[in-house]
Amino acid sequence: MKTIALIGGMSWESTVDYYKIINQEVKARLGEPHSAEIIMHSVDFAEIEKLQSAGKWDILTKKMIDIAHELETAGGDMILICANTMHQMAPAVQKQINIPLLHIADSAAEKIKDDGYKKVGLLGTKYTMEGDFYKNRIENKYDIEVVIPDSDAREYVHQVIYQELIAGILKDESRENFKEIIGDLKDKGAEGIILGCTEIPLLIKDSDSSLPVFNTTEIHAKKAVELALK
Ligand code: GLU
Repeated sequence: MKTIALIGGMSWESTVDYYKIINQEVKARLGEPHSAEIIMHSVDFAEIEKLQSAGKWDILTKKMIDIAHELETAGGDMILICANTMHQMAPAVQKQINIPLLHIADSAAEKIKDDGYKKVGLLGTKYTMEGDFYKNRIENKYDIEVVIPDSDAREYVHQVIYQELIAGILKDESRENFKEIIGDLKDKGAEGIILGCTEIPLLIKDSDSSLPVFNTTEIHAKKAVELALK
């Protein structure tokens, strides 16, 4: 079995799910008492969030490259960045290491394609919804159209992620508002919704959505196991 290297703590609330899903998936595939070979570097998210909001993506890129090197040296066979937002620097990180970085948007897009969808809505941080690094990758590489909420709703989703979800706060009111935003994306023609922030699945389950959801935490974690056992 290959060793899965996680860059976690962004936030730890969702990294817990990565750890759990990866181990559950290995057990499901190999049987009890198998579990995954995992190494992890978990960061202090306060520092990450501060650099993000200050737009210091160059410092963040260097930090991700340093951690990826460390995990490669420690014996990792593949790297997973346990957040969608921090995939902004994924290509730069991949260039500097000799093991594959398993891109979360690729994992999501492959699943969307396999399931036969052509147009999906995207929920995530403003960086993820508004930047080119995520949407464009899915649209250009996989020929899947991606629609995003309007500007007020994007701001709202972003605030809920940073004020509530990364702190493990799950409010019914926020869930109801997310459901409405999903409804609006459906009106824009979305056939499914990418939960493109690894904390959103803590708040929104399949049953909360009028459209099929693509849980990026789960899809990414399971993809890693598929590769680890190949
Ligand atoms: N975990 C989040 C994501 O998937 C947001 C936290 C971050 O900014 O890294 O985008």
